[in-house]
Amino acid sequence: MRGKVFLVGAGPGDPELLTLKAARLLAAAEVVFYDSLVSPEVLRMVSREALLLDVGKRAGKKLLTQDEINSLMLSYTRQPRLVVRLKGGDPLLFGRAGEEMESLRRAGVDFEIVPGITAAVGAAAAAKIALTDRRTASQVLFTTFSRGERGRWLNWAAVTPETTIAVYMPGIHYGEVAARLMENGLAGETPCVVVSHATRAEQQVRWSTIAALSDEDQLPAPALLLVGRVAARELHSWGERFETALFEAGERRNLHLAAKWPQ
Ligand code: SAH
Repeated sequence: MRGKVFLVGAGPGDPELLTLKAARLLAAAEVVFYDSLVSPEVLRMVSREALLLDVGKRAGKKLLTQDEINSLMLSYTRQPRLVVRLKGGDPLLFGRAGEEMESLRRAGVDFEIVPGITAAVGAAAAAKIALTDRRTASQVLFTTFSRGERGRWLNWAAVTPETTIAVYMPGIHYGEVAARLMENGLAGETPCVVVSHATRAEQQVRWSTIAALSDEDQLPAPALLLVGRVAARELHSWGERFETALFEAGERRNLHLAAKWPQ
């Protein structure tokens, strides 16, 4: 009998955003391998008896190579253990799960995926942005700068003015992001929003435009950039303005009623 590995999504940080299945597995796990992106609050959900192993990268310095992580994980499945591989957000998005699954498959180890809320979805919730608002957007693109040659990071044919782009960007300077977006035809006035530490206590939301982005202060990592018409602050505040208008209308009506039926 060999152990089984669960590749579990830890979500963007808030432990209440874990799936019930993730929470159950964290409480039952015997070994947990986790990344640096997993929040301390989520790690607190891990059983005290479990062996907790940090296999993340910090400040660009790799603690372990991907191959080392793969073989370490395999070594813990030689006995019938419950092994959890805990990854920030969703395990299948920008998390090297492809390589880990391949290694498990090759070794004939049973594994299962438990999806999580990806950072882009957490960031959209933090900024209260409808990623596919039908008035301005028709598609969402999850992408990153951290791979490939300059210009090859994104298939620009897929980008239309109705596209919302979610840029997962480990440590990249905003100026460079903005330059690449504009080089490839995005208008400088395209709205964007940076969300740092989405769904965590330290969460910060910075509204901007592509042109103004390079002048913005770099927010602490992890941060994610949402680009597109849906990230317009006016569109965002429309809902609030509408609520205010309704509230004011309600107030007026109350005044009107008060005038009609004086106490
Ligand atoms: N698998 C993860 C992504 C891993 S790539 C997921 O699905 O979310 C790492 C990048 O994700 C970070 O550099 C950052 O851009 C983004 N990220 C992860 N957690 C975040 C958070 N809480 N707030 C903002 N961005 C986050």
